[in-house]
Amino acid sequence: MPCQTSEELQHLVELSKKYAVNGKVADYIPELGKANPNDLSIAIHYPDGRCISAGDISKKFTLQSISKVICLALVLIERGFDYAFELVGMEPTGDPFNSIAKLETMVPAKPLNPMINAGALVVTHMLKGNTVEERINRLLTFIRQLAGNPNIEINEKVARSEFETADLNRALCYFLRQHKIIKEDVETLLDLYTKQCAVEMNCLDLARIGMIFSMDGVDPLNGKRIIPGEIARICKTFMVTCGMYNASGEFAIKIGIPAKSGVSGGILGAVPRKFGIGIFGPALDEKGNSIAGIKLLELLSRSYRLSMF
Ligand code: GLU
Repeated sequence: MPCQTSEELQHLVELSKKYAVNGKVADYIPELGKANPNDLSIAIHYPDGRCISAGDISKKFTLQSISKVICLALVLIERGFDYAFELVGMEPTGDPFNSIAKLETMVPAKPLNPMINAGALVVTHMLKGNTVEERINRLLTFIRQLAGNPNIEINEKVARSEFETADLNRALCYFLRQHKIIKEDVETLLDLYTKQCAVEMNCLDLARIGMIFSMDGVDPLNGKRIIPGEIARICKTFMVTCGMYNASGEFAIKIGIPAKSGVSGGILGAVPRKFGIGIFGPALDEKGNSIAGIKLLELLSRSYRLSMF
C-alpha cells in the first residue's frame, strides 16, 4: 500500500522545520556532514498497513544509534536475558552517548546500558557468527524483516568514514577489553559496529520497524511474531529511559513515546498498540537529537495525546 501524503502532518512539518536553523548536522563522522540540515520528513505506519507521510520520504539516512535498540533485540533473541545483562546494565546515565567517564568509576567496568556507545559496543560484540560478514548479515536479515523491505543495505561510504575516524569508540573498546568485558579484536568489533550504524533506510522503513515494536513484536499484517513480546517490552523500556541520550527525561515528560534517535537525524518512535513513527531531520541539538524532529514529535504528541504517561 503506498504511503499517503497527509496535509495535517505537512502542516506540523512546516511548523517544526523552522527549528532546524538552531541545529547542526553531525560532522564528527565526515560523511554525515554532507547532509542537508533543512531536510525534514516523517512517516507513520499503522498496524492495518496504512501509512501517512509528509516531507520527502524517499530520502535515505543511516541508522546510527537507532541500530542499538534493534541489535539489542536480536542479541536478546540469540543469547537470552541472563547472558546479555551479565555484561551490560539497565540504568540510564546523565552522560553524553560517547562518554567514557562512568566506565572508569564503575566496578566492574560494565557499561550502564545498551543505548550508550560503550554498552552498544558490548551488545554488538555478542552478535552470533564467525565472521563480521556473517554477523552483519544476520542483523541485516532481521532489520529487513522488521522493515518488510528486502532491499535495505549498508552505506559502505558512511561505514568507512566512521571506521576511519572512530577513535573515541576505539578507546571505549580498548578499555572494555582491558577489563575483559569485550573479548574480541577491537578492529573487528569496530568494523562490525560501524557497519551496523551505517544500515541505511528511509522514514517509511523506520516507521514500519516502529510499528512492529508498538505491536509487541508481531507483524499484524501476517500475524507472524518477529520479536518475542518480552524482548519488545525490554527494548521499549530502554527507549523510554535512555533512547534520547541524556535528554531522555525531558523527552519522556514532554512527549512520552518510546523512541530512539541517531546522530544522522533519524528518530524511531513506537506508540504502544497504535502506530510506528519514522522521522528524518539531520540538524541536531546539543545532545545529538534531531532538533526539528523532536519539535515535530512534541507537536504530534500534544495534538493527538500520544503520551503513554
Ligand atoms: N555511530 C555513531 C557513534 O558511535 C552512533 C552515535 C549515535 O547515533 O548516537 O558515534
